[in-house]
Amino acid sequence: MADVRKVPVPKEHAADAGLRLVAGERTHLERLRLALDHAPDMLFVIDHAEMRFVDVNQTACDLLGYTRSELLAKSPQDILPHTRAELEQAYAALIGDPSRSSGLTSHYRCKDGSRVPFESKRRAVRGADGRWLIVVASRDIRPMLAATEALRESEAALRRGQAMARLAHAVTDQDGALLRASDNLAHLLGMDPQRLPRTGREWYGLVHPDDHAHFREAAITAARSAAHAEIKYRLRCGDGTWMHVRHLIEPLEPLAADGGRQWFNTLQDITEQVRAEERIARLTRVYAVLSGINGLIVRATSRDELFEAACRVAVEQGGFCMAWIGLVDRDAGLVRPMASAGAVGDFFATAPLAILETRPGGYGLAGRAVRERKPIVSNDVHGDSQRLMKAELAARGIDSVAIVPLIRGEEVVGILALYAAEIGFFDEEELRLLVELAGDIAFGLEHIEKSEKLDYLAYYDVLTGLANRTLFLERTEQQVAAARSSYRKLAIFLMDIERFKPINDALGRQAGDALLTQIAERMRQTGVDPARFGKPAADQFAVLGLDVKSEEALARMVESRLKELFERPFRIAGQELRVSVRVGIAVFPNDGGDAETLFRNAEAALKKAKAGGERYLFHTAELTGQVAERLSLENKLRQALEREEFVLHYQPKIDLETRRIAGVEALIRWQSPELGLVAPGRFIPVLEETGLIQPVGHWALLRASSDYRAWVSQGLSAPRIAVNVSPLQLRQRDFVQRIDEATAGNGRRAGIDLEITESLMMANVADNIDKLNAVRRLGINIAIDDFGTGYSSLGYLARLPVQSLKIDRSFIETMHFDSSAMTLVSTIISLAHSMRLKVIAEGVETEDQAKYLRLLRCDEMQGYLISRPLAPAALVDFLRRDATGEAGASPSG
Ligand code: C2E
Ligand code: MG
Ligand code: MG
Repeated sequence: MADVRKVPVPKEHAADAGLRLVAGERTHLERLRLALDHAPDMLFVIDHAEMRFVDVNQTACDLLGYTRSELLAKSPQDILPHTRAELEQAYAALIGDPSRSSGLTSHYRCKDGSRVPFESKRRAVRGADGRWLIVVASRDIRPMLAATEALRESEAALRRGQAMARLAHAVTDQDGALLRASDNLAHLLGMDPQRLPRTGREWYGLVHPDDHAHFREAAITAARSAAHAEIKYRLRCGDGTWMHVRHLIEPLEPLAADGGRQWFNTLQDITEQVRAEERIARLTRVYAVLSGINGLIVRATSRDELFEAACRVAVEQGGFCMAWIGLVDRDAGLVRPMASAGAVGDFFATAPLAILETRPGGYGLAGRAVRERKPIVSNDVHGDSQRLMKAELAARGIDSVAIVPLIRGEEVVGILALYAAEIGFFDEEELRLLVELAGDIAFGLEHIEKSEKLDYLAYYDVLTGLANRTLFLERTEQQVAAARSSYRKLAIFLMDIERFKPINDALGRQAGDALLTQIAERMRQTGVDPARFGKPAADQFAVLGLDVKSEEALARMVESRLKELFERPFRIAGQELRVSVRVGIAVFPNDGGDAETLFRNAEAALKKAKAGGERYLFHTAELTGQVAERLSLENKLRQALEREEFVLHYQPKIDLETRRIAGVEALIRWQSPELGLVAPGRFIPVLEETGLIQPVGHWALLRASSDYRAWVSQGLSAPRIAVNVSPLQLRQRDFVQRIDEATAGNGRRAGIDLEITESLMMANVADNIDKLNAVRRLGINIAIDDFGTGYSSLGYLARLPVQSLKIDRSFIETMHFDSSAMTLVSTIISLAHSMRLKVIAEGVETEDQAKYLRLLRCDEMQGYLISRPLAPAALVDFLRRDATGEAGASPSG
């Protein structure tokens, strides 16, 4: 309707009221026309009788897409979804009551076929010509519909958003009473809408008791300051579960009509979120443990270290209140705690650790985890129906337990037990991590065992389990240090198997291995501490000998050990195999001051032994020579006894006063076919070391007894015979009995006395006193031989049942030119006399010595001055001469 003047008004409608242009009124009508055409609504005027449009405004044309003339050519039923009849009826109703208007909500069909929804107001008006016109004002309701739709959508979206965010809201008054609430509040709280809390007090009643304090505080602060506040707390839902809520309180403006403050409350269910946060915190803890332990696995060098540290990490980094690791001991049928951390205390005193269900304690979680090979969990130990140590757990503040098996290969080797102070700590995710952790620990265990195995390989011979060269030397070094500080000797024996290579080649490596294993086994059976064995090379064994007394003793030991080890044949691969070895020996300190040197020297000795064909060799060649000599001597002495090569010579003892024979001393000699007459100094020590002294000593007693009897039977005035007794003889339990037997004979007891060296008397005094007393009761006198060479005081000797004392030759020898020796001899004599002991001087060679001794009131003398030790026949001559008084006469007298 931009240019009204151009709009032709149909002639036939010129009479229509309100719209008809009347001459003279043109400007006024033009203005009206303009206003109508620009009206926001569509305007239609319908001739009721003809049922056609008589006028339309520009808005209608624009919206429906017709030109005015096109539209004026139409009838209402052409653009409405109604029949003519329906419309006529509706119009008739309007005409029937012109004061009333009626509305219609429908749509117009546009020229292009689209539709325009509208809301219209219709009214009947009588025209100037008396015809009924229907005036219709229709509003395009598309914008309104769109707005409604948009609102509806946004409300739906809001509702969905609230549902998704688990939000609800409520308006409360200043006392907290519920004024109104969103529909979903009841739903959110899982409550019947009728049961929603109506007052602030009721709401408070649903708050978790632990959250009461801060809930109240926040609410009061917000109310006082009319400021908004946010509180998080737990609220009991309709089904009794606890919901974590975020509660936003905002004051509403303006104040209510009564002046009271109203509050807008937004509630959000943040349970999921809180749980997720808690879970993340728990997982973080478990992750901390996991990574901490994984760090350990790389560093830990021993199983104990790994376990201890793993438990510590669990408690310190993982926040568990207790953790322990146990290993399965299948023989004992239980899990053995190896390490623990946290509030353990006396937990294991009562903890059920058996792995069999049938055993007491077998129902425990540890046993189950081992049997079922899977983690056993109690997420609420106090509400759990399993038989748990509830009191012990409660005392430690424990709510959840997980026992995770440590699995290696197919086998449960141990368990990891973790205890948390939270209900429901171990959910699926944690368990997955814990299983991973247990796997890592088991891996770490394996790793450590492997490296221990490597350590083992570094120190042991795998085949025999004996120390390898490195370890053997280490141990030797320790013993060398000990021997050095205690002035002891020690020895390394290095043993090489003869013909080992040919055995290996002929019978195969397995046979060679079997031989080595059997040798090691026999070595163990000797009862020697296996820590003193070594296997330094493929076919070599080593032994460390401690407390070495002498090289001879060593050699004897080697002999007997070799016999013990190699005399019997070995059974290898179904064959009997005789094996011999060569031995090289090095002795500390002579052959080296440290393990390396000793070992090298033993090797050198072994090499020489192999080259020279000796069974064993000492490193020091002369030692070997001496030892060889000693050993051959030993063998010869053994034969000497059998072959009766020993003889007794007798040396007279002369009374210094009368120069008559007072007795004789029996001195043994060995009439060796090869060596000639051997003095006792050369063989007595060998006899003593080999134990041969017992039979030889006994022989001497028998020989002396029979000689004595022979002299008696020859009518000679037989002197008493003093027989030397070795300390080893005295030590024999049946010493007294053997003396008794040897001297008893049939009838009269032989006139036998005993000489025992001073040093021996002092050892084991109490025992010796008893034995010597018993000997005394047989009528046998006892002399202390070589007096002055030991350290015994005379006073002490007084306690012993002895009758005489022989001053050692060394004093007599030096007496006449050493005044202190003279003083000593003088003192010994006078003190001995005060104890009623007879004093005999040994080794008197000169008249001077005899003179001094007489002056010092020594009782008897013995020595070359009077006679050398004499063969029995020679002694008989001496006795005959003595009977005539010629024998002991001094050359001067
Ligand atoms: P002994 O019991 O002190 O014997 C004295 C030793 O001094 C004897 O040596 C004797 O020959 C030697 N002798 C005696 N007068 C003189 C002298 O004037 N000058 C020198 N230089 N030596 C003298 P022998 O016979 O070689 O015996 C040595 C030791 O052997 C004995 O010392 C004794 O301890 C031990 N012995 C001898 N026979 C036996 C025996 O049958 N059994 C045991 N267990 N030991 C014996
Ligand atoms: Mg003697
Ligand atoms: Mg003597």
